[in-house]
Amino acid sequence: MSLTPKLTGRTNQLFPKKPGTTDGVSILIVDDSPVRLQTIAFVLQDMGYKQIQMAANGLEAIERIEQGPTVHIIFTDLQMPECDGLELIEHLGQRQYDGSIIIHSQMEKRIVDLTIELARRQSLYLVGYLDQNLEPSVIQTMMDRALLAARNYNASDLASLSKEMILRAIENKNIVPYFQPKIDNKTESVVGFEVLCRLVHPISKEIITPDRFIDAAERAGLMMLLTLALLEKAALEFNLLCEEFPYLPLTLAINLSPGQLDDDKLPSTFNDLCQICQLPPTRITLEITETDLIEKDTRLKNLARLRMMGFGCSLDDYGMGFTSLAQLEHYPFSEVKLDRSYINNIASDPYAQQLCEKLVDKCTANHMQMVAEGLERADDVEYLSRYHNIHLQGYLYSPPKPYTDIRRWLHNWEAHRSINP
Ligand code: C2E
Ligand code: CA
Ligand code: CA
Repeated sequence: MSLTPKLTGRTNQLFPKKPGTTDGVSILIVDDSPVRLQTIAFVLQDMGYKQIQMAANGLEAIERIEQGPTVHIIFTDLQMPECDGLELIEHLGQRQYDGSIIIHSQMEKRIVDLTIELARRQSLYLVGYLDQNLEPSVIQTMMDRALLAARNYNASDLASLSKEMILRAIENKNIVPYFQPKIDNKTESVVGFEVLCRLVHPISKEIITPDRFIDAAERAGLMMLLTLALLEKAALEFNLLCEEFPYLPLTLAINLSPGQLDDDKLPSTFNDLCQICQLPPTRITLEITETDLIEKDTRLKNLARLRMMGFGCSLDDYGMGFTSLAQLEHYPFSEVKLDRSYINNIASDPYAQQLCEKLVDKCTANHMQMVAEGLERADDVEYLSRYHNIHLQGYLYSPPKPYTDIRRWLHNWEAHRSINP
């Protein structure tokens, strides 16, 4: 049974993007065609971007970048007189440019692929390419991804919790696991949940999302405490779900911060906790973000040890770092999650489609599970229905929810297998 027919009635864009992300974003468009320059600029202005500069070739672009202020996102053509897109990319690599780059070019695909590879080797964030299609929806997708990737732009203006507040939340067991389901795209079965951490504010009692405490907990060296407290509580609730739905072979995924993989004791600590919680490691997947995975021996050793103990290991946010498809097979991952910035609007994004196809092939050849995360739109699910055995996760099915709510959701899903239970 395919998911697609039931989903087509659903309208797109159900969930608004984070507001305010156009503020303070500086964009440079580089193209020798005034018509294309203006077209892209109009679309961006229409989206609310105000700081837009234009350059007719690579040399002019370099001048603008050198003069400052910081350019967060560069749209560049490849074929231009004087200094072309390849030279510009090389220059950006040399000066370790940490914004995002989007190519817009009508060059043949091989040249574009080569450029993408070149940028990756220079650790540049090349986040997509536009061909002749300059539709606002396509540009919007690129901008969302570019903003997520640009390391020189910080959109977060939320106050972080202090070390003391986080510690108090851990001590008072004010940690709430939120579960988000993953669904098999062919069988429609729920295959498991990712647990996402929430804290209850010690004073206001509001539910706090990770953007306000993960960085602070990492800086304060509290991540191990936090993860173990979360896993302990999540394991209890997850076991209840497994008991209630014994015919579903559910798994539980939990996120790790990069520093945690540096700890030699991590595999045995997790193994011990799983025994105490009566949770077999084969039911647990540890998610590690791609951008954090530096080829450090300790990290790879710990990953391998965890796999040997039976844990699943997932490469999270794939596409936001620099792991090439060829490198993937050298890492001991059992799963790869294609980042939501590629999944959102994949139905009309050739760059994302190409990456997805290559990733599916790679995963199939190497017995890795592929997960598409951040699904919000029915047409994207429909696009992905061409693949067998990929797992789907996103608001379209359910946002992360606490135990009682996700239990109710699961009952509804099992009864109707529909996205609108
Ligand atoms: P992540 O691991 O990539 O988790 C997915 C995030 O995307 C979650 O945000 C989830 O609510 C959100 N999401 C899921 N589906 C959709 C969708 O369809 N559209 C959109 N726009 N977003 C979607 P959340 O819960 O705010 O977590 C943010 C990040 O915080 C996580 O990203 C993860 O990196 C980190 N995090 C959360 N819990 C933990 C934890 O226990 N330990 C560590 N180290 N990191 C955590
Ligand atoms: Ca994750
Ligand atoms: Ca992710």
